[in-house]
Amino acid sequence: MNGNGNGINDRVIVFDTTLRDGEQAPGASMNLAQKLQVARALASLGVDVMEVGFPVASPGDFQSVEAIARQIEGPIVAALARANRPDIDAALKALQPAPRRRVHVFLATSPIHRDYKLRMTPAEVVRVSSGAIEYARERCEDVEFSAEDAARTEPDFLVEVVERAIEAGATTINIPDTVGYAVPSHFAGIIENLRAKVRGIDRVMLSVHCHDDLGMAVANSLAALAAGARQVECTVNGIGERAGNCSLEEVVMALRTRHDFFGLRTGIRTQQLCSASRVVAGATGFQVARNKAVVGQNAFAHESGIHQHGMITNQQTYEVMRPEDVGFKSTNLVLGKHSGRHALTARLRDLGYQLEPEQIDRVFEELKKLADKKKEIYDGDLDALLVGLFQNGSSRARWQLTSLSAVSGTGTPPSAAVSLLSRDGRKLDEAATGDGPVDAVFKCIERITGIKSRLRDFHVASVSAGEDAQGEVVVVVEHEGRTYRGRGLSTDIVLASAEAYLEVVNRIAAGRLQRKAPPEPEVVCGAV
Ligand SMILES: [Zn+2]
Repeated sequence: MNGNGNGINDRVIVFDTTLRDGEQAPGASMNLAQKLQVARALASLGVDVMEVGFPVASPGDFQSVEAIARQIEGPIVAALARANRPDIDAALKALQPAPRRRVHVFLATSPIHRDYKLRMTPAEVVRVSSGAIEYARERCEDVEFSAEDAARTEPDFLVEVVERAIEAGATTINIPDTVGYAVPSHFAGIIENLRAKVRGIDRVMLSVHCHDDLGMAVANSLAALAAGARQVECTVNGIGERAGNCSLEEVVMALRTRHDFFGLRTGIRTQQLCSASRVVAGATGFQVARNKAVVGQNAFAHESGIHQHGMITNQQTYEVMRPEDVGFKSTNLVLGKHSGRHALTARLRDLGYQLEPEQIDRVFEELKKLADKKKEIYDGDLDALLVGLFQNGSSRARWQLTSLSAVSGTGTPPSAAVSLLSRDGRKLDEAATGDGPVDAVFKCIERITGIKSRLRDFHVASVSAGEDAQGEVVVVVEHEGRTYRGRGLSTDIVLASAEAYLEVVNRIAAGRLQRKAPPEPEVVCGAV
């Protein structure tokens, strides 16, 4: 079926939710500087709408939505709100500085959510959702309504809810597959049913939001677009709750590569997909799988001799996209000891980073220090430097590492001594033995800070090439039911481990302060 055969516009609106749904992925939380970096990358990628947070959820979320609304130009900036006045008021207040803003109101419509989460009758769901939409629309021109868990909602009831939402003033209607339950033909059928039965459906933008629990988020989104939806909600690298969301780069490149089939287009500057992907990976700490479609390191690599021969004769024998169309660069050797500030600035821009002059100065200083330790600087080294810059750039860390020594070897128990400087200027020392030097360091930090957590994951990777490559340590811990992730980078693995663990501990401490006065939720929390 050709999606453009039904007489509606062929332009698909790309609604990115990396900074809201993506950030809800366990352990993906970003600080303000990291969120601003991602928001800039999304704006230069050309997304039409960016959803950047859930302002009522925490003071930190509110502040980051407000900062992005103030600083980012181009896309419409959206914020999420449950179907109640305090949520909508908070979203509108945070969005106030944005030149173009959208309030995104949601309420669950499926029987299981109505009965067990909301404890509302169908009639109450209709009344509460349309009331909230009316309230939002009186205060904002652009209101999106999401029927949470629409894919598991009775088709007739979904028609009723959507019709009333349009009457109440919603300008975009979003149909989420919140739990990743749909399959493509079923999901297309939901869209077709709405387009056939809902009065006024042609007056609004019809949108979809799919999750990847069964690995079908992109396929379901494409099926819905072919059936007449014209907004797709997605995230860079497909990050998001549980198995994640529809991947922006995959849905965009599918539409572009198979224009012959879909007849649809987006406004995305596809040459920036790889750089947006690395900015998001750096900010969240979620590395992209090597075999990930479109932006994985192996997406355009060919090792088999037969493939290589075919590729030399004609690139299209084994590639449906050209690497340059997604901004994929085969070489990643960047800078050496004698590279100047200009070369650095150009390379940072190539990689998708948009920095203020003083931030470039700081990166340049760090780069010179690193160049004394290693001969060649690779893209991976730059990414890692940037991660460090943004980690330390905005969070006022509660504790800083001032010195560390660790001993290991045969015949002596591994031990470590650590000194931290606390924000109030106190210097705190501790020594410990452990199963290994890293374990001993973690014990020292735990004793000094008094923050106990359970280590869930610990891995070390080389960020670039060569014997003098820097090691990156990622630490994932659980503390009071939440997951925290920290990264450390050094040519010394024990030092990198200490930094990663300290970042986690600082995040836990910051979270404790933030959560002291959470707003009382009116309805049980959820998300689209
Ligand atoms: Zn979602």
